[in-house]
Amino acid sequence: MNFSELEERDGLRWSALIWPWSRLEATRSVIPFAAMYTPLKNLQNMPPLLRYEPVNCKTCTTLLNPYCRIDPNQKIWMCPFCSGRNPIPPQYSEIAQNNLPAEQIFTTVEYMLPRPMAPPPAFVFVLDTCVSDAELRVAKESLMKAISLVPPETIVGLVSFGKNVNIHVLGFTDSVKSYVLRGDKEYTSQNIKDLLNLGIIGSQAILGGQSVPVQGATRFLQPISECEFMFTSVLEDLDKDPWPVKQNQRPKRCNYTALSIAVALLESSYQGYGARVVALLGGPPTQDPGKVVKLELGDTLRSHADIERDYAPFYRKAVKAFDKIATRAVNAGHTIDIFSCSLDQVGLYEMRSCVDRTGGYFVTSEAFSHPMFKKSFEMFFKSN
Ligand SMILES: [Zn+2]
Repeated sequence: MNFSELEERDGLRWSALIWPWSRLEATRSVIPFAAMYTPLKNLQNMPPLLRYEPVNCKTCTTLLNPYCRIDPNQKIWMCPFCSGRNPIPPQYSEIAQNNLPAEQIFTTVEYMLPRPMAPPPAFVFVLDTCVSDAELRVAKESLMKAISLVPPETIVGLVSFGKNVNIHVLGFTDSVKSYVLRGDKEYTSQNIKDLLNLGIIGSQAILGGQSVPVQGATRFLQPISECEFMFTSVLEDLDKDPWPVKQNQRPKRCNYTALSIAVALLESSYQGYGARVVALLGGPPTQDPGKVVKLELGDTLRSHADIERDYAPFYRKAVKAFDKIATRAVNAGHTIDIFSCSLDQVGLYEMRSCVDRTGGYFVTSEAFSHPMFKKSFEMFFKSN
């Protein structure tokens, strides 16, 4: 058998070429069984998209395929994986050896399911304003560049933070420019929803056959085509965090609360759809919840050795806090990306579950003005 010919015919590459016959044989296999499939690959002999739901085996959910035996007289089909017998559905009543549906003839078919189309992707930017004026300016420029690189229907939102969290209004529904929530307070999803009047968590409105965020969240989440001017002017007016920083102290930073609010914005309106929280961080969280270091500069950030020896007093609590955010994002099907731009550490080790568990990107660089950040950020949006 010519395997490359098979790959050419089906667009599939397998890690193993023979399927194990028993559980024992499967456990003896060194390489895990996997298949790589290229969706929308242009295959020579593929039928047009099938615009109906596939037929499943009741027992093991295998889809009806050319290797299933059909019995037109008894109106049943046999599953080759579990040997289960399934009734032929009524819409296939005309089925016969010389009148087979496409999925019984071709070894690879693609379905286009008759379901409502997913809304465009959404990005909520989380911007740290506890950085120097020059750094903030570069970060803002990168954000403006980013929105010019994604399609105009993309939904965007903006959250900035320092000691407190600002949630910026991008829709023209009221005269309020932004909502401010305390950075040192632990809010639940429900608290944030109530305070920002986001509507029912997880609810979706269907407009013209398209699923759109509920009214409450549309103040903060808008398509770029509608809010580009607003987004740009909000960014232009955005200054360094006004909260005074005492000598020999770090700025008060609430990374946890800012991320938590950004996740809540998406939870309330984009549950189950493609959305990312993109955080631009300039330093470590110094406020609870999620604090990784004290305000005093004399108190140095924990090192890897400190964590190993359990000498990092905030480590466990911070990990637990950020893990909660990760769980919420995972449950909503959303991704968190962290771009950390600081000479010192920003506590990525404590925040790692947010990125690891949601399949996001970690990019670390020494400053927003460093080409490493600028180029990575641009590539991130070009490839998205
Ligand atoms: Zn089956």
